Amino acid sequence: MNLILFGPPGAGKGTQAKYLVEKLNSFQISTGDMLRDEIKKDTEIGKKIIKNMNEGKFVEDVIVNKLLEKIVFDSKKKNKLIFDGYPRTINQAKNLQSLMNKSNQKLDYIFFLNLDKDSIVKRIERRKILEKRSDDDSNTILKRYDIYMKETKPVLDFYSSKKEFYEIDGSLNIEQITNKIDDILKV
Ligand code: AMP
Repeated sequence: MNLILFGPPGAGKGTQAKYLVEKLNSFQISTGDMLRDEIKKDTEIGKKIIKNMNEGKFVEDVIVNKLLEKIVFDSKKKNKLIFDGYPRTINQAKNLQSLMNKSNQKLDYIFFLNLDKDSIVKRIERRKILEKRSDDDSNTILKRYDIYMKETKPVLDFYSSKKEFYEIDGSLNIEQITNKIDDILKV
């Protein structure tokens, strides 16, 4: 089974992804983690993206799409993909569709964790203290929210009419969200 966890920053995508990785014996595909890794390792890509990431802006589609390609075609991960934070733009959503088709896979579930702006700010302020992420400061949070609304909302329209799409209230606590996902997956 392949699935997408979709929603604004702070909605709990990463937390639920980790839960699902264990439960489904799958792989968390977090483009945020992959990009932070590139920065940590000081790779060519890392040098290119550090500014955008620290300012809360998106990394260019070509760079993120390229990182994704390797993973979708990795036979170990086939039909065990849990996307967390990808796709974030229409270009990425179309790229993912094409990669899934080419690798003979499909998206079985698209979970949209919905959360309002005030709750996002509160959640990320808390995460900043716990995880010390450099892009979790107050100014950057608001910028990330604005970019999310502009770039990622169209992705929502792209997926929302599909039968695999499920909206979940992201203001619920971790366990409640997990229960909702379990009920939908029936596994
Ligand atoms: P995340 O850990 O998913 O909250 O992502 C942290 C940051 O990484 C984002 O604010 C972007 O700068 C960058 N990023 C992660 N995933 C993507 C993506 N799919 N497209 C563009 N930028 C991304």
